[in-house]
Amino acid sequence: MATRQGSGARPRSYNTDALVLRSVDEGEADRRVTLLTPGLGKVQAYVRGARRITSRLGGHLDALNHSRVNLAMGARWNVVAGAESIASFGRLKQDLDRIAVALYLAELTGAMLPEEAPHPAAYRLLLDALRAIDGGAADIRLTARYLELRLLEDAGYMPELRVCVLCGCAVEPDQHRFAPDLGGVVCDACVVPQGRALPLSLSALKVLRHFARSSMAEGTALSAPPALLTELETLLGACCLAVLERDTASGAFVGHLRDMRRRAAR
Ligand SMILES: [Zn+2]
Repeated sequence: MATRQGSGARPRSYNTDALVLRSVDEGEADRRVTLLTPGLGKVQAYVRGARRITSRLGGHLDALNHSRVNLAMGARWNVVAGAESIASFGRLKQDLDRIAVALYLAELTGAMLPEEAPHPAAYRLLLDALRAIDGGAADIRLTARYLELRLLEDAGYMPELRVCVLCGCAVEPDQHRFAPDLGGVVCDACVVPQGRALPLSLSALKVLRHFARSSMAEGTALSAPPALLTELETLLGACCLAVLERDTASGAFVGHLRDMRRRAAR
């Protein structure tokens, strides 16, 4: 839970839009939610009595909801004092494949971002992705891959896609590999420790570069054959996990995310 140093600080109250990244039961009747807001970033908060049948808040704070919330940011913890749904993405939630992808993207976004630091671009990205998935995006896997790349960018881990991360030369078509934990493309001339470079097709490199300069709608308006989708999934998944393994204290959490990816990939 979010805690703040010092005692006696008066709670601050905020009205903000929020995406519910996660919602877990806490105690007998409460819930703890992880929210992503445009201005406050990722925020953890308690929802008192959320699981009581009479709760006015509970239904507005299910995972993947887009809600307007009133947050009391306390000295020791945060509480959701009010909530109203803006969108609950009902179509998305009727389809298991779509739910799996959306939950994975919500968890990934939460994992990549620090507590209570504004990340409006990541908020926008996830909202756009949920809308696209809910609206029947032609290819939810492309939507997921687009989000992964742009989230890496927003978190400060954009993979290098133009020059070799080892020697700095511009990579030549079809003479490149991809090294997730080195931060991007490597040329065929450079020696990379075994197991650290993945094959990278020219098509996949082109899609990644296209994602990097396009809006979500433009970026995902492609038709990608299954083999290319699988390749992109491997590359970007390895990038995200490399970042999380470096920065996340909990190996268990990375394992959890890996499971979610697997479910989302079915
Ligand atoms: Zn090189």
